[in-house]
Amino acid sequence: MLDAYHQSGVDLAVDLANTLKPVKGEDLLDSVSALRAFLDRHLPGDERAEPPTAHDLEAVRAVRATVRETLERAAEEPGHAARLVNDGLRECRAAPQLRPDGDGWRLEVAPETGGYAPTVAARALDALAAVLTELGPDRLGVCSSPTCRSTFADLSRNGSKQYCSRGCAHRASVAAYRTRRRPSS
Ligand SMILES: [Zn+2]
Repeated sequence: MLDAYHQSGVDLAVDLANTLKPVKGEDLLDSVSALRAFLDRHLPGDERAEPPTAHDLEAVRAVRATVRETLERAAEEPGHAARLVNDGLRECRAAPQLRPDGDGWRLEVAPETGGYAPTVAARALDALAAVLTELGPDRLGVCSSPTCRSTFADLSRNGSKQYCSRGCAHRASVAAYRTRRRPSS
């Protein structure tokens, strides 16, 4: 089981990757205000004092490409995913830092440079690294629904997730039921 800090990093990573809707051809991270809303959802208040700029938007979208590719390919090519994570962490010069956490401490990976893109990259890639090391690369994947293709991270106990959401799993089971009931000719 991942700790709460890494779980929230996984949420950030998956949410970031899924701002791209490959089947519909939509991009939900297409403006500075969309980036601001994303950062508001995922970063604590003290880490987003400055409003994001057009430069931040470009840089975060580049981080998204890495995060999405890691989620998409980890199960099939874990070595490739590990390289993406390593290179991404090196690029933002992420270093381990002790931070107070409740009554104790936790080890965070923080970027040496400021800016939203390095912060998002360090949070997301560190969390995906935690999934890879603690649960295994096959916990990262892409929704089996051909009309969805959203990415997911399966943090459940048994780890048998195939769909990004209950909605997609339900639609797939209804479709399979209809196929079974159709008389064969
Ligand atoms: Zn789905």
